[in-house]
Amino acid sequence: MTILWIPGPVQVRDEILDAQALPMIGHRAPEMAELIERIDPHLPHLFGFDPANGARAGVASGSASSLMEAALHGCGQRVLSVVGGAFAKRWYEIARTLGKHTHALEVVWGHAPDTETVLATIDREGPFDAVTVVANETSTGVVTPLGPLAAALRENSPETHLLADCVTLAAGQPVDLDALGIDFALTGSQKALALPPGLALCAASARYQERARGLERRSWYLDPLRVLDGQEQRKTPTTPAISLYQALALQLEQISVGLLEGGASTPAEGWSKRFARHLRLRDRTIAWAAEHDLCPFPARAEWNSATVSCIAASNLDVAAFAKHLDESGFKISNGYGDLKGKTFRIGHMGDHTDAGLEDLLAAASTAIAAQR
Ligand SMILES: *Cc1c(COP(=O)(O)O)cnc(C)c1O
Repeated sequence: MTILWIPGPVQVRDEILDAQALPMIGHRAPEMAELIERIDPHLPHLFGFDPANGARAGVASGSASSLMEAALHGCGQRVLSVVGGAFAKRWYEIARTLGKHTHALEVVWGHAPDTETVLATIDREGPFDAVTVVANETSTGVVTPLGPLAAALRENSPETHLLADCVTLAAGQPVDLDALGIDFALTGSQKALALPPGLALCAASARYQERARGLERRSWYLDPLRVLDGQEQRKTPTTPAISLYQALALQLEQISVGLLEGGASTPAEGWSKRFARHLRLRDRTIAWAAEHDLCPFPARAEWNSATVSCIAASNLDVAAFAKHLDESGFKISNGYGDLKGKTFRIGHMGDHTDAGLEDLLAAASTAIAAQR
Protein backbone atom coordinates (compact mmCIF):
# COMPACT_ATOMS: atom_id res chain seq x y z
CA MET A 1 0.00 0.00 0.00
CA THR A 2 1.20 3.48 -0.87
CA ILE A 3 1.23 6.05 1.93
CA LEU A 4 0.24 9.58 0.96
CA TRP A 5 2.58 12.38 1.98
CA ILE A 6 1.18 14.76 -0.61
CA PRO A 7 -0.40 18.02 0.58
CA GLY A 8 -3.92 16.73 0.04
CA PRO A 9 -5.79 14.53 -0.15
CA VAL A 10 -3.92 13.09 2.80
CA GLN A 11 -3.67 9.61 4.27
CA VAL A 12 -6.88 8.60 6.09
CA ARG A 13 -6.88 6.05 8.92
CA ASP A 14 -8.86 2.84 8.33
CA GLU A 15 -11.13 3.48 11.30
CA ILE A 16 -12.15 6.81 9.78
CA LEU A 17 -12.63 5.28 6.33
CA ASP A 18 -14.82 2.58 7.90
CA ALA A 19 -17.07 5.17 9.56
CA GLN A 20 -18.24 6.06 6.06
CA ALA A 21 -19.72 2.59 5.64
CA LEU A 22 -22.27 3.02 8.43
CA PRO A 23 -25.91 2.52 7.40
CA MET A 24 -27.55 5.50 5.75
CA ILE A 25 -29.81 7.76 7.80
CA GLY A 26 -32.42 10.26 6.72
CA HIS A 27 -31.15 13.80 6.71
CA ARG A 28 -34.42 15.07 8.19
CA ALA A 29 -34.46 12.31 10.83
CA PRO A 30 -33.42 12.85 14.46
CA GLU A 31 -30.30 10.75 13.75
CA MET A 32 -28.98 13.54 11.51
CA ALA A 33 -29.54 16.17 14.19
CA GLU A 34 -27.65 13.90 16.60
CA LEU A 35 -24.81 13.54 14.12
CA ILE A 36 -24.54 17.33 13.72
CA GLU A 37 -24.59 17.64 17.51
CA ARG A 38 -21.61 15.30 17.77
CA ILE A 39 -19.69 17.57 15.38
CA ASP A 40 -20.70 20.94 16.77
CA PRO A 41 -18.78 21.13 20.08
CA HIS A 42 -15.45 20.57 18.33
CA LEU A 43 -15.72 23.33 15.73
CA PRO A 44 -14.74 26.14 18.15
CA HIS A 45 -11.44 24.29 18.70
CA LEU A 46 -10.93 23.87 14.97
CA PHE A 47 -11.37 27.59 14.30
CA GLY A 48 -10.51 29.14 17.66
CA PHE A 49 -13.65 30.96 18.72
CA ASP A 50 -16.01 31.18 21.66
CA PRO A 51 -19.63 30.86 20.49
CA ALA A 52 -20.55 33.37 23.22
CA ASN A 53 -18.78 36.06 21.16
CA GLY A 54 -21.17 35.62 18.27
CA ALA A 55 -19.05 33.71 15.77
CA ARG A 56 -20.69 30.66 14.24
CA ALA A 57 -19.34 27.65 12.34
CA GLY A 58 -20.81 25.62 9.52
CA VAL A 59 -20.24 22.48 7.47
CA ALA A 60 -20.97 22.29 3.76
CA SER A 61 -20.94 19.35 1.38
CA GLY A 62 -18.49 20.39 -1.28
CA SER A 63 -14.79 21.03 -1.61
CA ALA A 64 -13.07 23.92 0.17
CA SER A 65 -13.37 26.16 -2.88
CA SER A 66 -17.15 26.11 -2.50
CA LEU A 67 -16.79 28.02 0.75
CA MET A 68 -14.26 30.43 -0.79
CA GLU A 69 -17.05 31.32 -3.18
CA ALA A 70 -19.65 31.40 -0.38
CA ALA A 71 -17.42 33.70 1.70
CA LEU A 72 -17.28 36.19 -1.16
CA HIS A 73 -21.08 36.14 -1.55
CA GLY A 74 -21.30 37.57 1.96
CA CYS A 75 -19.02 40.57 1.46
CA GLY A 76 -19.30 43.78 -0.50
CA GLN A 77 -18.16 44.51 -4.05
CA ARG A 78 -14.65 45.82 -3.43
CA VAL A 79 -12.12 43.05 -2.83
CA LEU A 80 -8.36 43.11 -2.38
CA SER A 81 -6.73 39.75 -3.04
CA VAL A 82 -3.24 39.18 -1.69
CA VAL A 83 -1.69 36.82 -4.24
CA GLY A 84 1.51 34.97 -3.39
CA GLY A 85 0.69 31.50 -4.65
CA ALA A 86 -1.70 29.32 -6.61
CA PHE A 87 -4.49 29.17 -4.04
CA ALA A 88 -4.34 32.90 -3.35
CA LYS A 89 -4.80 33.36 -7.08
CA ARG A 90 -7.92 31.21 -6.84
CA TRP A 91 -9.47 33.70 -4.36
CA TYR A 92 -8.77 36.45 -6.90
CA GLU A 93 -10.26 34.47 -9.77
CA ILE A 94 -13.40 33.57 -7.84
CA ALA A 95 -13.92 37.21 -6.83
CA ARG A 96 -13.50 38.27 -10.46
CA THR A 97 -15.89 35.58 -11.63
CA LEU A 98 -18.51 36.83 -9.17
CA GLY A 99 -18.20 40.29 -10.73
CA LYS A 100 -16.50 41.92 -7.74
CA HIS A 101 -14.24 44.92 -8.24
CA THR A 102 -11.08 43.02 -7.47
CA HIS A 103 -7.54 44.24 -7.08
CA ALA A 104 -4.64 41.80 -6.86
CA LEU A 105 -1.66 42.63 -4.67
CA GLU A 106 1.12 40.43 -6.01
CA VAL A 107 3.55 39.02 -3.48
CA VAL A 108 6.75 37.24 -4.54
CA TRP A 109 6.19 33.48 -4.25
CA GLY A 110 8.02 32.18 -1.19
CA HIS A 111 7.28 35.33 0.79
CA ALA A 112 4.48 36.18 3.20
CA PRO A 113 2.70 39.46 2.49
CA ASP A 114 4.11 42.51 4.21
CA THR A 115 1.54 44.33 6.34
CA GLU A 116 2.79 47.81 5.38
CA THR A 117 2.40 47.00 1.70
CA VAL A 118 -1.15 45.74 2.24
CA LEU A 119 -2.03 48.96 4.08
CA ALA A 120 -0.40 51.11 1.39
CA THR A 121 -2.39 49.27 -1.26
CA ILE A 122 -5.61 49.89 0.64
CA ASP A 123 -4.70 53.60 0.83
CA ARG A 124 -3.95 53.79 -2.87
CA GLU A 125 -6.57 51.50 -4.37
CA GLY A 126 -9.19 51.27 -1.62
CA PRO A 127 -11.36 51.35 0.28
CA PHE A 128 -12.07 47.62 0.25
CA ASP A 129 -14.93 45.62 1.74
CA ALA A 130 -12.77 42.53 2.11
CA VAL A 131 -9.20 41.31 1.87
CA THR A 132 -8.63 37.70 0.84
CA VAL A 133 -5.55 35.85 2.07
CA VAL A 134 -4.31 32.29 2.18
CA ALA A 135 -3.11 31.52 5.70
CA ASN A 136 -0.98 28.59 4.62
CA GLU A 137 -0.11 28.62 0.92
CA THR A 138 0.07 24.98 -0.13
CA SER A 139 1.85 25.77 -3.41
CA THR A 140 4.82 27.47 -1.72
CA GLY A 141 4.85 26.08 1.82
CA VAL A 142 4.55 29.62 3.23
CA VAL A 143 2.54 30.28 6.36
CA THR A 144 1.42 33.89 6.69
CA PRO A 145 1.47 35.29 10.22
CA LEU A 146 -2.14 36.49 10.21
CA GLY A 147 -1.96 38.24 13.60
CA PRO A 148 -0.09 41.39 12.55
CA LEU A 149 -2.06 41.69 9.31
CA ALA A 150 -5.42 41.30 11.05
CA ALA A 151 -4.48 43.79 13.78
CA ALA A 152 -3.29 46.38 11.24
CA LEU A 153 -6.51 45.99 9.25
CA ARG A 154 -8.68 46.45 12.34
CA GLU A 155 -6.79 49.58 13.25
CA ASN A 156 -6.35 51.23 9.87
CA SER A 157 -9.24 49.95 7.82
CA PRO A 158 -11.86 48.68 10.27
CA GLU A 159 -14.56 48.36 7.62
CA THR A 160 -12.48 45.78 5.69
CA HIS A 161 -13.25 42.16 6.49
CA LEU A 162 -10.47 39.58 6.53
CA LEU A 163 -11.34 36.38 4.65
CA ALA A 164 -8.80 33.65 5.30
CA ASP A 165 -8.33 30.41 3.40
CA CYS A 166 -7.18 28.16 6.25
CA VAL A 167 -7.38 24.96 4.23
CA THR A 168 -3.94 23.62 5.15
CA LEU A 169 -3.80 25.47 8.46
CA ALA A 170 -6.93 24.38 10.35
CA ALA A 171 -6.47 21.18 12.39
CA GLY A 172 -2.71 21.49 11.87
CA GLN A 173 -2.18 24.83 13.63
CA PRO A 174 -4.50 27.12 15.62
CA VAL A 175 -6.70 29.44 13.53
CA ASP A 176 -7.55 31.80 16.43
CA LEU A 177 -10.51 33.43 14.71
CA ASP A 178 -11.60 35.41 17.79
CA ALA A 179 -8.19 36.41 19.07
CA LEU A 180 -6.91 37.61 15.70
CA GLY A 181 -10.16 39.09 14.46
CA ILE A 182 -10.54 36.98 11.32
CA ASP A 183 -13.97 37.49 9.75
CA PHE A 184 -14.28 34.33 7.70
CA ALA A 185 -12.09 31.22 7.90
CA LEU A 186 -12.56 28.05 5.91
CA THR A 187 -11.03 24.63 5.41
CA GLY A 188 -11.62 21.35 3.58
CA SER A 189 -11.88 17.83 4.91
CA GLN A 190 -8.98 16.32 2.91
CA LYS A 191 -6.14 18.34 4.39
CA ALA A 192 -5.07 18.54 8.06
CA LEU A 193 -8.39 17.07 9.23
CA ALA A 194 -7.26 13.82 7.57
CA LEU A 195 -10.63 12.91 6.11
CA PRO A 196 -11.62 12.00 2.57
CA PRO A 197 -12.39 14.99 0.33
CA GLY A 198 -15.92 16.30 0.02
CA LEU A 199 -16.68 18.46 3.06
CA ALA A 200 -15.86 22.11 3.65
CA LEU A 201 -15.99 23.79 7.04
CA CYS A 202 -16.07 27.45 8.01
CA ALA A 203 -16.48 29.93 10.82
CA ALA A 204 -17.59 33.55 10.54
CA SER A 205 -17.35 36.47 12.95
CA ALA A 206 -20.46 38.22 14.26
CA ARG A 207 -19.70 41.30 12.18
CA TYR A 208 -19.26 39.27 8.98
CA GLN A 209 -22.68 37.69 9.55
CA GLU A 210 -24.24 41.05 10.27
CA ARG A 211 -22.93 42.57 7.06
CA ALA A 212 -23.87 39.51 5.02
CA ARG A 213 -27.41 39.73 6.37
CA GLY A 214 -27.71 43.25 5.01
CA LEU A 215 -26.51 42.29 1.53
CA GLU A 216 -28.30 40.77 -1.39
CA ARG A 217 -26.53 37.42 -1.63
CA ARG A 218 -26.53 36.29 -5.23
CA SER A 219 -26.38 32.58 -4.56
CA TRP A 220 -28.79 30.17 -2.97
CA TYR A 221 -26.57 27.11 -2.75
CA LEU A 222 -23.46 29.03 -1.65
CA ASP A 223 -25.13 31.48 0.72
CA PRO A 224 -22.79 31.59 3.75
CA LEU A 225 -25.65 32.35 6.15
CA ARG A 226 -27.59 29.32 4.93
CA VAL A 227 -24.57 27.14 5.77
CA LEU A 228 -24.22 28.67 9.26
CA ASP A 229 -27.96 28.52 9.95
CA GLY A 230 -28.08 24.86 8.90
CA GLN A 231 -25.46 23.95 11.48
CA GLU A 232 -27.22 25.92 14.21
CA GLN A 233 -30.65 24.47 13.40
CA ARG A 234 -29.20 20.93 13.00
CA LYS A 235 -30.83 20.95 9.59
CA THR A 236 -28.69 21.28 6.50
CA PRO A 237 -30.25 23.28 3.64
CA THR A 238 -29.81 20.39 1.20
CA THR A 239 -29.00 16.68 1.47
CA PRO A 240 -25.54 16.53 3.08
CA ALA A 241 -22.77 14.01 2.35
CA ILE A 242 -23.97 11.92 5.30
CA SER A 243 -21.18 9.32 5.12
CA LEU A 244 -18.57 12.04 5.34
CA TYR A 245 -20.38 13.58 8.30
CA GLN A 246 -20.01 10.20 10.06
CA ALA A 247 -16.27 10.24 9.41
CA LEU A 248 -16.01 13.88 10.50
CA ALA A 249 -17.83 13.28 13.79
CA LEU A 250 -15.56 10.37 14.69
CA GLN A 251 -12.39 12.21 13.69
CA LEU A 252 -13.27 15.35 15.68
CA GLU A 253 -14.07 13.24 18.75
CA GLN A 254 -10.77 11.39 18.45
CA ILE A 255 -8.83 14.65 18.06
CA SER A 256 -10.50 16.10 21.16
CA VAL A 257 -9.60 13.07 23.30
CA GLY A 258 -6.03 13.14 21.95
CA LEU A 259 -6.25 9.64 20.49
CA LEU A 260 -3.04 10.00 18.47
CA GLU A 261 -1.30 12.20 21.03
CA GLY A 262 -1.09 9.84 24.00
CA GLY A 263 -4.38 11.09 25.43
CA ALA A 264 -5.65 14.47 26.62
CA SER A 265 -7.50 15.51 29.75
CA THR A 266 -9.45 18.28 27.96
CA PRO A 267 -10.43 18.85 24.32
CA ALA A 268 -8.24 21.97 24.23
CA GLU A 269 -5.27 19.81 25.23
CA GLY A 270 -6.09 17.27 22.52
CA TRP A 271 -6.04 20.03 19.90
CA SER A 272 -2.91 21.70 21.21
CA LYS A 273 -1.03 18.39 21.22
CA ARG A 274 -2.11 17.89 17.62
CA PHE A 275 -0.74 21.35 16.76
CA ALA A 276 2.54 20.56 18.58
CA ARG A 277 2.91 17.30 16.62
CA HIS A 278 2.63 19.24 13.34
CA LEU A 279 5.45 21.57 14.42
CA ARG A 280 7.61 18.54 15.33
CA LEU A 281 6.98 16.96 11.92
CA ARG A 282 7.87 20.23 10.21
CA ASP A 283 11.07 20.72 12.22
CA ARG A 284 12.17 17.15 11.59
CA THR A 285 11.52 17.49 7.85
CA ILE A 286 13.50 20.75 7.62
CA ALA A 287 16.37 19.22 9.64
CA TRP A 288 16.41 16.19 7.33
CA ALA A 289 16.53 18.49 4.30
CA ALA A 290 19.50 20.36 5.79
CA GLU A 291 21.35 17.05 6.25
CA HIS A 292 21.07 16.68 2.47
CA ASP A 293 22.05 20.32 1.74
CA LEU A 294 18.47 21.15 0.75
CA CYS A 295 16.73 24.39 1.81
CA PRO A 296 13.08 25.23 2.31
CA PHE A 297 11.59 27.33 -0.49
CA PRO A 298 10.09 29.98 1.87
CA ALA A 299 12.49 32.92 2.14
CA ARG A 300 12.43 33.02 5.95
CA ALA A 301 12.37 30.24 8.56
CA GLU A 302 9.37 31.84 10.31
CA TRP A 303 7.35 31.30 7.11
CA ASN A 304 7.96 27.53 7.01
CA SER A 305 4.54 25.89 7.11
CA ALA A 306 3.77 23.35 9.82
CA THR A 307 1.72 21.21 7.45
CA VAL A 308 3.51 21.24 4.10
CA SER A 309 7.23 21.60 3.55
CA CYS A 310 8.12 22.99 0.15
CA ILE A 311 11.81 22.23 -0.41
CA ALA A 312 13.99 23.77 -3.14
CA ALA A 313 15.26 20.91 -5.28
CA SER A 314 18.74 22.32 -5.92
CA ASN A 315 20.29 19.84 -8.39
CA LEU A 316 17.93 17.00 -7.50
CA ASP A 317 15.84 15.50 -10.32
CA VAL A 318 12.43 15.85 -8.63
CA ALA A 319 10.52 13.58 -11.00
CA ALA A 320 13.05 10.75 -10.55
CA PHE A 321 13.15 11.32 -6.78
CA ALA A 322 9.35 11.15 -6.51
CA LYS A 323 9.27 8.05 -8.73
CA HIS A 324 11.87 6.31 -6.59
CA LEU A 325 9.84 7.12 -3.46
CA ASP A 326 6.67 5.94 -5.14
CA GLU A 327 8.32 2.57 -5.81
CA SER A 328 9.20 2.44 -2.09
CA GLY A 329 5.55 2.98 -1.15
CA PHE A 330 5.46 6.74 -0.47
CA LYS A 331 3.84 9.50 -2.49
CA ILE A 332 5.16 13.04 -2.27
CA SER A 333 4.41 15.99 -4.59
CA ASN A 334 6.37 17.75 -7.24
CA GLY A 335 6.35 21.57 -7.15
CA TYR A 336 3.18 23.39 -8.11
CA GLY A 337 2.88 25.11 -11.49
CA ASP A 338 6.02 27.09 -12.27
CA LEU A 339 7.75 25.47 -9.29
CA LYS A 340 7.50 22.02 -10.87
CA GLY A 341 10.95 20.44 -11.04
CA LYS A 342 12.33 23.28 -8.90
CA THR A 343 10.77 22.23 -5.61
CA PHE A 344 9.13 19.19 -4.05
CA ARG A 345 6.50 19.14 -1.33
CA ILE A 346 5.97 16.85 1.65
CA GLY A 347 2.55 17.12 3.26
CA HIS A 348 3.22 16.17 6.89
CA MET A 349 -0.28 16.94 8.05
CA GLY A 350 -3.28 15.14 9.46
CA ASP A 351 -2.72 11.92 11.35
CA HIS A 352 0.90 11.28 10.37
CA THR A 353 3.13 10.25 13.28
CA ASP A 354 6.76 10.93 14.16
CA ALA A 355 7.59 7.27 13.50
CA GLY A 356 5.82 7.36 10.15
CA LEU A 357 7.86 10.40 9.14
CA GLU A 358 11.11 8.56 9.98
CA ASP A 359 10.10 5.79 7.54
CA LEU A 360 9.42 8.33 4.81
CA LEU A 361 12.65 10.24 5.40
CA ALA A 362 14.75 7.07 5.44
CA ALA A 363 13.30 6.13 2.04
CA ALA A 364 13.83 9.70 0.83
CA SER A 365 17.49 9.58 1.88
CA THR A 366 17.93 6.37 -0.10
CA ALA A 367 16.25 7.96 -3.12
CA ILE A 368 18.61 10.94 -2.92
CA ALA A 369 21.69 8.71 -2.53
CA ALA A 370 20.69 6.91 -5.73
CA GLN A 371 21.06 10.22 -7.62
CA ARG A 372 24.26 11.51 -6.11
C1 LIG B 1 -6.40 22.25 -1.31
C2 LIG B 1 -6.51 23.73 -1.15
C3 LIG B 1 -7.62 24.47 -1.62
C4 LIG B 1 -8.69 23.89 -2.49
O1 LIG B 1 -9.40 22.95 -1.93
P1 LIG B 1 -10.52 22.13 -2.73
O2 LIG B 1 -10.97 21.26 -1.62
O3 LIG B 1 -9.83 21.41 -3.83
O4 LIG B 1 -11.54 23.07 -3.21
C5 LIG B 1 -7.69 25.80 -1.36
N1 LIG B 1 -6.72 26.42 -0.67
C6 LIG B 1 -5.64 25.77 -0.22
C7 LIG B 1 -4.59 26.53 0.53
C8 LIG B 1 -5.50 24.40 -0.43
O5 LIG B 1 -4.43 23.76 0.01
